Amino acid sequence: MVRMKWLDKNKNEIIKLYNKGLTQIEITKEFNVSQTAISLRLRKWNISNPDGNRFKHIDIDRHTLKDLYWNKEMHPSQIANIYKCDKMVIYNRMLKYGISRRTKSEARQGKLNSNWKGGACSDRELFNSSPEWKAVSSKVWYRDRKTCQKCKNKYTHYLPPFHVHHIISFADSKDLRLNKDNLILLCKDCHEWVHSNRNTDNLFLEET
Ligand SMILES: [Zn+2]
Ligand SMILES: [Zn+2]
Repeated sequence: MVRMKWLDKNKNEIIKLYNKGLTQIEITKEFNVSQTAISLRLRKWNISNPDGNRFKHIDIDRHTLKDLYWNKEMHPSQIANIYKCDKMVIYNRMLKYGISRRTKSEARQGKLNSNWKGGACSDRELFNSSPEWKAVSSKVWYRDRKTCQKCKNKYTHYLPPFHVHHIISFADSKDLRLNKDNLILLCKDCHEWVHSNRNTDNLFLEET
């Protein structure tokens, strides 16, 4: 019990470490107590997230996260909404990726006040960063064996990123946006070709 009281005195420090992304086990090392003691304290202070989503793994790469935060000027809690996780997961990931935070005054300017509901982020951009899209496009990558379905080149990291293309366009059919049968993997060059006026036979393009 003495130890518990002592931990209570270090409440702010422990919460700070936890929010920084340290696991309970890592915190026990700092304070030389059992993991149970830490976990009990965190629960008592209502820090542990009952739905277990706090450190849920989310699939977001550095480029996407930086783009949402700095270019789209989304707030971490808005990004967390898209990925259905706690906003601390987003903050931790930014820390891990070395993405700098906006200063308070930058955050106060214009877009980031409470009235701003993400207006700068288009439908398409939100869609592209949604977990649903990530899930289906990775299935398409797998189904198409990382191979461009036009030129049959296989993806390697030397090549520019391949694209998952919508055969019936994104704009034309809301229902088919996440339908694998409407999606196909193309290399960057072939994808540009498909959308260009050189594609006179409308290969890989269909209308509803
Ligand atoms: Zn190709
Ligand atoms: Zn396309």
